[in-house]
Amino acid sequence: MKYVNFDVLDKYIRLALESTGNGYTTKKNGYNFRCLICGDSKKSKKKKRGWILKNKNPWMYHCFNCNCSIPAEHWLKLYFNYYYNEYFKECYKIDLGIKQQEVKKNVVEEIKYSEVDEVRHFIPIIMDPYNFALTKYAIEYCKNRMIPFDTYSKWYISLEGKYHHRLIIPFYDDKGKIYSYQARTLINDELKYINRVDAKNNIYNYYNVDPLKPVIILEGPIDSIFVSNSIALTGVKINDSLLNKFKLRYFLLDNDESGFEKSMALLTEGEYIFLWKKFLTRIKMLDKKIKDINDVIIGKNIANYKFTFKQLQPFFTNSIFDKVYLI
Ligand SMILES: [Zn+2]
Repeated sequence: MKYVNFDVLDKYIRLALESTGNGYTTKKNGYNFRCLICGDSKKSKKKKRGWILKNKNPWMYHCFNCNCSIPAEHWLKLYFNYYYNEYFKECYKIDLGIKQQEVKKNVVEEIKYSEVDEVRHFIPIIMDPYNFALTKYAIEYCKNRMIPFDTYSKWYISLEGKYHHRLIIPFYDDKGKIYSYQARTLINDELKYINRVDAKNNIYNYYNVDPLKPVIILEGPIDSIFVSNSIALTGVKINDSLLNKFKLRYFLLDNDESGFEKSMALLTEGEYIFLWKKFLTRIKMLDKKIKDINDVIIGKNIANYKFTFKQLQPFFTNSIFDKVYLI
């Protein structure tokens, strides 16, 4: 059982609440204040529906507006990370003071980056026992991107560590084993994607395509979901030797500046590239802001759709003369 020092937890919860500047009321069973997760009532600034319930075991955070219900420690960790760390440090000292020598040694060892430690923070998005706000947000994101439930139900979120506040998209091989993953931020102002560092293969869907048939090469896993027999590079270089496995390869890179530059380079190498302009003209979407296949799916409102090679084939070219379509 994890050690919880209630006096110390109480102290840091109060410090955290004071730091919001909104105040809080001490009640018989805990503290009452405005919920930070949902923002509480928009109409009334006086309404306080967030609670730290000290009569529960473990202490719980509960909001009667958004119904968020999580252990108080997790609430502190999620929304007041600074105070959580202070709380943790203080607890540590009290609880493990005698073993300080041993603790120090472990700390030094832990500085070495370990991906295994990162994975420990992953929580399946449809089986989140704490009902974190981030999980709800992740599911909402998947629904907005029209990702099928069968797919995103196998995905994760990470609350802490290197991949904190990110949606984890696992890469499953043909036996259902995860060989890598990509982490997409669920907060806007950060680096959008982080790829696993120590993976031998960071190509999404690599083991599930038929290498003898035409393979469509995209940039992002989410786009790959909507294209048959496709893989996604997720930052792997366009000339990576892993791609040699596929003899009939067709590059469908993003419809943006970087995708355009990479496509130009590929065309010079004699590879097949995608003519976005021609494609968007044909599907009557040239006037829309379309960056990738997922945008097309959303723009056309076609859930559970997969483009086939046959449909996309007319828009691929390996002729340098087709450059006119690119500009
Ligand atoms: Zn709330």
